[in-house]
Amino acid sequence: MQLTRLTQALLLSLVAGHAAAATLDSSREHIAAQAKALEPELLKTRRDLHAHPELGNSEKRTSELVAKQLKALGLEVKTNVARTGVVAVLKGALPGPTVALRADMDALPVKEVADLPFASQAKGTYLDKQVDVMHACGHDAHTAILLSTAKILTGMRDTLPGTVVFYFQPAEEGPSDFIPDGKNTWGAKMMVEEGVMKSPKPDAVFGLHVWAGVPAGQIAYRPGATLASSDDLRIKILGKQTHAGRPWDGIDPITVGAQTIVGLQTVVSRRTDISSYPSVVSIGTINGGTRYNIIPESVDMSGTIRSYDYGIRQKLHADVRQTIEKIAESGGAKADVTIIEKYDPTINNPALTEKMLPTLKWAAKDDVVNAPLVGGAEDFSFFAKEVPGLFVFLGVTPRDQDMGKAAPNHNPGFFVDESALVVGVRTMASLATDYLYGSTGVSK
Ligand SMILES: [Zn+2]
Ligand SMILES: [Zn+2]
Repeated sequence: MQLTRLTQALLLSLVAGHAAAATLDSSREHIAAQAKALEPELLKTRRDLHAHPELGNSEKRTSELVAKQLKALGLEVKTNVARTGVVAVLKGALPGPTVALRADMDALPVKEVADLPFASQAKGTYLDKQVDVMHACGHDAHTAILLSTAKILTGMRDTLPGTVVFYFQPAEEGPSDFIPDGKNTWGAKMMVEEGVMKSPKPDAVFGLHVWAGVPAGQIAYRPGATLASSDDLRIKILGKQTHAGRPWDGIDPITVGAQTIVGLQTVVSRRTDISSYPSVVSIGTINGGTRYNIIPESVDMSGTIRSYDYGIRQKLHADVRQTIEKIAESGGAKADVTIIEKYDPTINNPALTEKMLPTLKWAAKDDVVNAPLVGGAEDFSFFAKEVPGLFVFLGVTPRDQDMGKAAPNHNPGFFVDESALVVGVRTMASLATDYLYGSTGVSK
Protein backbone atom coordinates (compact mmCIF):
# COMPACT_ATOMS: atom_id res chain seq x y z
CA MET A 1 0.00 0.00 0.00
CA GLN A 2 1.28 3.39 -0.98
CA LEU A 3 1.28 5.85 1.93
CA THR A 4 0.62 9.48 1.18
CA ARG A 5 3.19 11.97 2.36
CA LEU A 6 0.75 13.29 5.00
CA THR A 7 0.04 9.85 6.39
CA GLN A 8 3.75 9.13 6.50
CA ALA A 9 4.37 12.37 8.36
CA LEU A 10 1.53 11.61 10.78
CA LEU A 11 2.82 8.12 11.46
CA LEU A 12 6.33 9.40 11.96
CA SER A 13 5.20 12.07 14.42
CA LEU A 14 3.11 9.49 16.27
CA VAL A 15 6.09 7.17 16.56
CA ALA A 16 8.26 10.09 17.65
CA GLY A 17 5.63 11.18 20.15
CA HIS A 18 5.41 7.71 21.62
CA ALA A 19 9.15 7.44 21.81
CA ALA A 20 9.38 10.77 23.56
CA ALA A 21 6.49 10.00 25.90
CA ALA A 22 8.28 6.77 26.68
CA THR A 23 11.36 8.83 27.43
CA LEU A 24 9.39 10.98 29.86
CA ASP A 25 7.82 7.92 31.51
CA SER A 26 11.10 6.07 31.65
CA SER A 27 12.85 9.14 33.05
CA ARG A 28 10.35 9.22 35.88
CA GLU A 29 10.81 5.50 36.48
CA HIS A 30 14.54 6.02 36.57
CA ILE A 31 14.19 8.94 39.01
CA ALA A 32 11.87 6.94 41.28
CA ALA A 33 14.26 3.98 41.41
CA GLN A 34 17.37 6.10 41.87
CA ALA A 35 15.80 8.34 44.53
CA LYS A 36 14.93 5.23 46.52
CA ALA A 37 18.37 3.68 46.01
CA LEU A 38 20.14 6.88 47.04
CA GLU A 39 18.03 7.39 50.18
CA PRO A 40 20.69 6.10 52.64
CA GLU A 41 23.28 8.43 51.10
CA LEU A 42 20.77 11.31 51.13
CA LEU A 43 20.07 10.86 54.85
CA LYS A 44 23.76 10.48 55.63
CA THR A 45 24.52 13.81 53.92
CA ARG A 46 21.55 15.54 55.55
CA ARG A 47 22.55 14.37 59.03
CA ASP A 48 26.15 15.42 58.45
CA LEU A 49 25.01 18.89 57.36
CA HIS A 50 22.56 19.05 60.26
CA ALA A 51 25.32 18.32 62.78
CA HIS A 52 27.54 21.02 61.22
CA PRO A 53 25.32 24.04 60.53
CA GLU A 54 26.89 27.34 59.44
CA LEU A 55 25.46 30.85 59.43
CA GLY A 56 24.87 32.93 56.31
CA ASN A 57 28.07 33.65 54.38
CA SER A 58 30.04 31.38 56.73
CA GLU A 59 29.04 28.19 54.90
CA LYS A 60 32.65 27.11 54.39
CA ARG A 61 32.47 23.45 55.33
CA THR A 62 29.06 23.10 53.67
CA SER A 63 30.14 24.60 50.36
CA GLU A 64 33.32 22.49 50.35
CA LEU A 65 31.24 19.35 50.86
CA VAL A 66 28.85 20.44 48.09
CA ALA A 67 31.62 21.34 45.64
CA LYS A 68 33.44 18.07 46.32
CA GLN A 69 30.36 15.96 45.60
CA LEU A 70 29.51 17.92 42.45
CA LYS A 71 33.09 17.71 41.12
CA ALA A 72 33.05 13.96 41.74
CA LEU A 73 30.08 13.80 39.36
CA GLY A 74 32.18 15.44 36.65
CA LEU A 75 30.13 18.63 36.52
CA GLU A 76 31.46 22.10 35.75
CA VAL A 77 31.64 23.60 39.25
CA LYS A 78 32.17 27.21 40.29
CA THR A 79 32.89 28.04 43.92
CA ASN A 80 32.97 31.26 45.95
CA VAL A 81 29.91 32.51 44.10
CA ALA A 82 28.32 35.34 46.11
CA ARG A 83 30.95 34.68 48.79
CA THR A 84 30.29 31.03 49.72
CA GLY A 85 27.89 29.77 47.03
CA VAL A 86 28.46 26.93 44.56
CA VAL A 87 27.08 26.66 41.02
CA ALA A 88 27.28 23.53 38.87
CA VAL A 89 26.28 23.02 35.26
CA LEU A 90 25.13 19.72 33.77
CA LYS A 91 24.96 19.74 29.97
CA GLY A 92 22.69 17.04 28.59
CA ALA A 93 23.81 15.16 25.49
CA LEU A 94 20.84 16.50 23.48
CA PRO A 95 19.95 20.09 22.69
CA GLY A 96 17.17 21.70 24.71
CA PRO A 97 16.28 24.44 27.17
CA THR A 98 17.97 25.25 30.47
CA VAL A 99 16.49 24.85 33.94
CA ALA A 100 17.94 25.98 37.25
CA LEU A 101 17.41 24.14 40.54
CA ARG A 102 18.11 25.93 43.79
CA ALA A 103 19.00 24.93 47.34
CA ASP A 104 20.04 27.21 50.19
CA MET A 105 22.79 26.16 52.60
CA ASP A 106 22.72 28.50 55.62
CA ALA A 107 21.53 27.90 59.19
CA LEU A 108 20.17 30.14 61.97
CA PRO A 109 21.30 31.48 65.36
CA VAL A 110 19.04 29.04 67.22
CA LYS A 111 19.84 26.46 69.92
CA GLU A 112 18.55 23.03 68.99
CA VAL A 113 16.43 21.26 71.60
CA ALA A 114 15.68 17.98 69.79
CA ASP A 115 17.19 14.84 71.21
CA LEU A 116 18.80 13.54 68.02
CA PRO A 117 22.12 11.69 67.67
CA PHE A 118 23.08 14.25 65.02
CA ALA A 119 21.70 17.30 66.88
CA SER A 120 23.76 20.44 66.44
CA GLN A 121 26.35 21.49 69.00
CA ALA A 122 27.70 24.19 66.69
CA LYS A 123 28.51 27.76 67.56
CA GLY A 124 28.91 30.73 65.29
CA THR A 125 29.27 34.49 65.24
CA TYR A 126 26.15 36.49 64.59
CA LEU A 127 26.42 40.29 64.52
CA ASP A 128 29.64 40.02 66.55
CA LYS A 129 28.05 37.78 69.20
CA GLN A 130 28.81 34.13 69.92
CA VAL A 131 25.62 32.11 69.28
CA ASP A 132 24.37 28.56 69.01
CA VAL A 133 23.68 27.52 65.45
CA MET A 134 21.02 25.15 64.11
CA HIS A 135 19.49 24.20 60.79
CA ALA A 136 16.15 25.43 62.14
CA CYS A 137 14.80 26.18 58.67
CA GLY A 138 15.74 22.84 57.09
CA HIS A 139 18.28 24.13 54.58
CA ASP A 140 20.36 21.03 55.40
CA ALA A 141 17.52 19.02 53.84
CA HIS A 142 17.43 21.29 50.75
CA THR A 143 21.18 20.92 50.18
CA ALA A 144 21.12 17.13 50.62
CA ILE A 145 18.07 16.84 48.33
CA LEU A 146 19.73 18.85 45.56
CA LEU A 147 22.97 16.87 45.81
CA SER A 148 21.05 13.60 45.30
CA THR A 149 19.11 15.25 42.48
CA ALA A 150 22.38 16.29 40.79
CA LYS A 151 23.64 12.73 41.04
CA ILE A 152 20.49 11.27 39.48
CA LEU A 153 20.32 13.80 36.66
CA THR A 154 24.03 13.37 35.88
CA GLY A 155 23.33 9.66 35.45
CA MET A 156 20.73 10.61 32.81
CA ARG A 157 23.05 12.92 30.86
CA ASP A 158 23.07 10.77 27.68
CA THR A 159 19.33 11.21 27.14
CA LEU A 160 18.88 14.65 28.66
CA PRO A 161 17.58 17.27 26.20
CA GLY A 162 18.99 20.48 27.64
CA THR A 163 20.99 21.87 30.52
CA VAL A 164 20.47 21.81 34.28
CA VAL A 165 22.13 24.40 36.51
CA PHE A 166 22.40 23.82 40.25
CA TYR A 167 22.46 26.83 42.54
CA PHE A 168 23.71 26.14 46.06
CA GLN A 169 23.28 29.57 47.56
CA PRO A 170 24.52 31.07 50.80
CA ALA A 171 22.79 33.44 53.20
CA GLU A 172 19.12 32.90 52.41
CA GLU A 173 18.32 34.09 55.92
CA GLY A 174 20.65 37.04 55.40
CA PRO A 175 24.31 37.38 56.20
CA SER A 176 25.54 36.80 59.74
CA ASP A 177 27.68 39.94 59.52
CA PHE A 178 24.97 42.22 58.14
CA ILE A 179 25.54 45.91 58.66
CA PRO A 180 22.54 48.07 57.81
CA ASP A 181 24.42 50.26 55.35
CA GLY A 182 22.26 49.37 52.40
CA LYS A 183 24.82 46.87 51.10
CA ASN A 184 22.68 43.78 51.22
CA THR A 185 24.40 40.48 50.83
CA TRP A 186 21.48 38.10 50.73
CA GLY A 187 22.73 35.07 48.83
CA ALA A 188 20.29 34.90 45.92
CA LYS A 189 20.33 38.64 45.38
CA MET A 190 24.10 38.69 45.27
CA MET A 191 24.21 35.69 42.92
CA VAL A 192 21.87 37.47 40.51
CA GLU A 193 23.97 40.64 40.79
CA GLU A 194 27.09 38.60 40.00
CA GLY A 195 25.44 37.46 36.76
CA VAL A 196 24.84 33.83 37.70
CA MET A 197 21.61 33.77 35.70
CA LYS A 198 23.18 35.26 32.59
CA SER A 199 25.35 32.34 31.58
CA PRO A 200 23.77 29.90 31.17
CA LYS A 201 20.47 31.75 31.28
CA PRO A 202 17.76 29.43 32.59
CA ASP A 203 14.30 29.27 31.02
CA ALA A 204 12.82 28.38 34.41
CA VAL A 205 13.96 28.10 38.01
CA PHE A 206 12.66 25.67 40.63
CA GLY A 207 13.05 25.51 44.38
CA LEU A 208 11.45 23.82 47.36
CA HIS A 209 11.21 24.42 51.09
CA VAL A 210 10.65 21.87 53.83
CA TRP A 211 7.75 23.06 55.95
CA ALA A 212 6.54 22.23 59.44
CA GLY A 213 2.79 21.81 59.93
CA VAL A 214 2.38 20.06 56.57
CA PRO A 215 2.27 16.22 56.59
CA ALA A 216 5.57 14.56 55.66
CA GLY A 217 5.81 13.98 51.92
CA GLN A 218 2.89 16.23 50.99
CA ILE A 219 3.53 19.07 48.56
CA ALA A 220 1.78 22.42 49.01
CA TYR A 221 1.91 24.99 46.23
CA ARG A 222 0.12 28.06 44.97
CA PRO A 223 0.23 29.96 41.69
CA GLY A 224 1.13 33.66 41.84
CA ALA A 225 2.18 35.40 45.05
CA THR A 226 3.27 32.82 47.61
CA LEU A 227 5.64 34.37 50.18
CA ALA A 228 5.70 38.00 51.28
CA SER A 229 8.16 40.75 50.60
CA SER A 230 9.99 41.75 53.76
CA ASP A 231 11.31 45.24 54.34
CA ASP A 232 13.03 46.64 57.41
CA LEU A 233 11.53 49.73 58.97
CA ARG A 234 13.77 51.88 61.17
CA ILE A 235 12.47 54.98 62.89
CA LYS A 236 14.22 57.62 64.96
CA ILE A 237 11.94 60.17 66.65
CA LEU A 238 13.86 63.26 67.64
CA GLY A 239 12.39 65.28 70.50
CA LYS A 240 13.94 67.59 73.08
CA GLN A 241 15.13 66.32 76.42
CA THR A 242 13.67 67.85 79.55
CA HIS A 243 12.49 67.18 83.13
CA ALA A 244 9.49 64.86 83.07
CA GLY A 245 7.77 67.19 85.59
CA ARG A 246 7.96 70.04 83.05
CA PRO A 247 7.10 68.43 79.69
CA TRP A 248 6.17 71.83 78.16
CA ASP A 249 9.87 72.73 78.24
CA GLY A 250 10.76 69.94 75.82
CA ILE A 251 9.36 67.72 73.06
CA ASP A 252 8.34 64.27 74.22
CA PRO A 253 9.45 61.57 71.71
CA ILE A 254 7.87 58.84 73.88
CA THR A 255 4.34 60.16 73.43
CA VAL A 256 5.02 60.75 69.73
CA GLY A 257 6.34 57.18 69.52
CA ALA A 258 3.15 55.82 71.07
CA GLN A 259 1.04 57.80 68.61
CA THR A 260 3.23 56.57 65.77
CA ILE A 261 2.62 52.92 66.67
CA VAL A 262 -1.14 53.47 66.80
CA GLY A 263 -1.06 55.55 63.61
CA LEU A 264 0.86 52.83 61.75
CA GLN A 265 -1.99 50.41 62.47
CA THR A 266 -4.21 52.49 60.20
CA VAL A 267 -1.90 52.20 57.18
CA VAL A 268 -3.13 48.69 56.39
CA SER A 269 -6.61 48.89 57.95
CA ARG A 270 -7.66 52.27 56.47
CA ARG A 271 -5.45 53.06 53.50
CA THR A 272 -4.53 49.78 51.79
CA ASP A 273 -6.73 47.86 49.33
CA ILE A 274 -6.78 44.41 50.92
CA SER A 275 -9.23 42.93 48.40
CA SER A 276 -6.40 41.27 46.43
CA TYR A 277 -3.66 40.68 49.00
CA PRO A 278 -3.15 41.30 52.71
CA SER A 279 -0.28 43.37 54.09
CA VAL A 280 1.37 43.70 57.48
CA VAL A 281 3.08 46.56 59.30
CA SER A 282 4.55 45.53 62.66
CA ILE A 283 6.76 47.29 65.17
CA GLY A 284 9.16 44.91 66.88
CA THR A 285 11.40 47.09 69.04
CA ILE A 286 11.14 50.38 70.96
CA ASN A 287 14.07 51.92 72.75
CA GLY A 288 14.08 55.25 74.53
CA GLY A 289 14.75 56.87 77.87
CA THR A 290 17.08 56.22 80.77
CA ARG A 291 15.17 57.37 83.88
CA TYR A 292 11.54 57.73 85.05
CA ASN A 293 11.70 61.50 85.48
CA ILE A 294 13.53 62.44 82.29
CA ILE A 295 11.84 62.92 78.94
CA PRO A 296 14.51 61.65 76.54
CA GLU A 297 15.94 63.32 73.49
CA SER A 298 14.95 60.53 71.11
CA VAL A 299 13.23 57.18 70.68
CA ASP A 300 14.29 54.42 68.25
CA MET A 301 11.89 51.86 66.87
CA SER A 302 12.15 49.10 64.29
CA GLY A 303 9.66 46.91 62.52
CA THR A 304 8.78 45.06 59.35
CA ILE A 305 6.59 45.76 56.34
CA ARG A 306 5.20 42.76 54.42
CA SER A 307 3.23 42.55 51.20
CA TYR A 308 2.66 40.28 48.21
CA ASP A 309 2.54 42.77 45.37
CA TYR A 310 5.13 45.24 44.07
CA GLY A 311 2.61 48.08 43.66
CA ILE A 312 1.07 47.63 47.12
CA ARG A 313 4.56 47.44 48.57
CA GLN A 314 5.58 50.83 47.18
CA LYS A 315 2.32 52.45 48.35
CA LEU A 316 2.84 50.99 51.85
CA HIS A 317 6.31 52.50 51.98
CA ALA A 318 4.98 55.94 51.07
CA ASP A 319 2.03 55.73 53.49
CA VAL A 320 4.20 54.46 56.36
CA ARG A 321 6.69 57.26 55.79
CA GLN A 322 4.00 59.94 55.61
CA THR A 323 2.18 58.64 58.72
CA ILE A 324 5.36 58.66 60.81
CA GLU A 325 6.62 62.03 59.59
CA LYS A 326 3.27 63.82 59.97
CA ILE A 327 2.57 62.40 63.44
CA ALA A 328 6.02 63.56 64.55
CA GLU A 329 5.40 66.97 63.03
CA SER A 330 2.06 67.26 64.86
CA GLY A 331 3.92 66.78 68.16
CA GLY A 332 6.67 69.25 67.26
CA ALA A 333 9.15 66.39 66.85
CA LYS A 334 11.10 65.18 63.83
CA ALA A 335 11.23 61.65 62.49
CA ASP A 336 13.96 59.95 60.48
CA VAL A 337 12.48 57.01 58.59
CA THR A 338 14.60 54.38 56.85
CA ILE A 339 13.05 51.54 54.88
CA ILE A 340 15.45 48.83 53.68
CA GLU A 341 14.08 46.47 51.02
CA LYS A 342 15.25 43.03 52.04
CA TYR A 343 13.24 40.39 50.23
CA ASP A 344 11.02 40.75 47.17
CA PRO A 345 7.71 38.87 47.19
CA THR A 346 8.08 35.29 45.94
CA ILE A 347 5.75 34.98 42.98
CA ASN A 348 5.19 31.67 41.22
CA ASN A 349 4.73 32.08 37.49
CA PRO A 350 1.08 30.97 36.97
CA ALA A 351 1.65 29.32 33.55
CA LEU A 352 4.74 27.46 34.78
CA THR A 353 2.87 26.37 37.92
CA GLU A 354 0.02 24.95 35.84
CA LYS A 355 2.42 23.24 33.45
CA MET A 356 4.37 21.57 36.28
CA LEU A 357 1.37 20.53 38.41
CA PRO A 358 1.26 16.99 36.92
CA THR A 359 4.94 16.66 37.84
CA LEU A 360 4.26 17.66 41.46
CA LYS A 361 1.41 15.14 41.57
CA TRP A 362 3.66 12.42 40.27
CA ALA A 363 6.46 13.30 42.68
CA ALA A 364 4.19 13.35 45.77
CA LYS A 365 2.03 10.43 44.60
CA ASP A 366 -1.00 12.73 44.26
CA ASP A 367 -0.64 14.17 47.75
CA VAL A 368 -0.61 17.77 46.55
CA VAL A 369 -2.59 20.59 48.14
CA ASN A 370 -2.99 24.33 47.76
CA ALA A 371 -0.84 26.40 50.08
CA PRO A 372 -2.08 29.51 51.88
CA LEU A 373 -0.13 32.76 51.55
CA VAL A 374 2.97 32.64 53.74
CA GLY A 375 3.88 35.68 55.82
CA GLY A 376 7.55 34.74 55.79
CA ALA A 377 9.87 35.75 52.98
CA GLU A 378 12.33 33.90 50.72
CA ASP A 379 15.16 35.20 48.64
CA PHE A 380 14.26 32.65 45.94
CA SER A 381 12.19 35.67 44.91
CA PHE A 382 15.29 37.23 43.32
CA PHE A 383 15.75 34.23 41.01
CA ALA A 384 12.02 34.12 40.21
CA LYS A 385 12.11 37.81 39.32
CA GLU A 386 14.62 37.13 36.53
CA VAL A 387 12.96 34.10 34.89
CA PRO A 388 9.69 32.16 35.44
CA GLY A 389 9.96 30.44 38.79
CA LEU A 390 8.14 27.84 40.87
CA PHE A 391 8.72 27.40 44.59
CA VAL A 392 6.85 24.67 46.49
CA PHE A 393 6.60 23.51 50.08
CA LEU A 394 7.42 19.97 51.14
CA GLY A 395 5.73 18.80 54.34
CA VAL A 396 8.08 17.38 56.99
CA THR A 397 5.86 16.91 60.04
CA PRO A 398 5.28 13.25 61.02
CA ARG A 399 1.85 12.17 59.82
CA ASP A 400 0.79 10.84 63.24
CA GLN A 401 1.41 14.24 64.83
CA ASP A 402 -1.10 17.07 65.28
CA MET A 403 -0.14 19.42 62.41
CA GLY A 404 -1.28 22.46 64.37
CA LYS A 405 1.16 21.66 67.17
CA ALA A 406 4.28 21.18 65.04
CA ALA A 407 7.17 23.46 66.04
CA PRO A 408 7.39 25.90 63.13
CA ASN A 409 10.44 26.64 60.98
CA HIS A 410 12.95 28.77 62.96
CA ASN A 411 11.77 27.26 66.27
CA PRO A 412 14.38 25.43 68.43
CA GLY A 413 12.13 22.35 68.21
CA PHE A 414 11.84 22.40 64.39
CA PHE A 415 11.92 18.78 63.25
CA VAL A 416 12.25 17.13 59.84
CA ASP A 417 10.60 13.74 59.27
CA GLU A 418 13.24 12.30 56.96
CA SER A 419 10.79 10.10 55.08
CA ALA A 420 9.82 13.24 53.18
CA LEU A 421 13.27 13.84 51.74
CA VAL A 422 13.03 11.21 49.02
CA VAL A 423 9.88 13.01 47.82
CA GLY A 424 11.99 16.16 47.65
CA VAL A 425 14.47 14.39 45.37
CA ARG A 426 11.64 13.03 43.17
CA THR A 427 10.25 16.57 42.99
CA MET A 428 13.43 18.44 42.07
CA ALA A 429 14.65 15.80 39.61
CA SER A 430 11.32 15.41 37.82
CA LEU A 431 10.68 19.16 37.69
CA ALA A 432 13.92 19.39 35.71
CA THR A 433 13.38 16.40 33.42
CA ASP A 434 9.66 16.98 32.82
CA TYR A 435 10.39 20.60 31.95
CA LEU A 436 13.17 19.60 29.55
CA TYR A 437 11.17 16.84 27.88
CA GLY A 438 7.99 18.93 27.92
CA SER A 439 9.74 21.82 26.25
CA THR A 440 11.00 19.64 23.45
CA GLY A 441 7.43 19.04 22.37
CA VAL A 442 6.63 16.11 24.61
CA SER A 443 4.13 16.15 27.39
CA LYS A 444 2.14 13.51 29.08
ZN1 LIG B 1 14.03 30.47 57.30
ZN1 LIG C 1 14.34 28.71 54.83
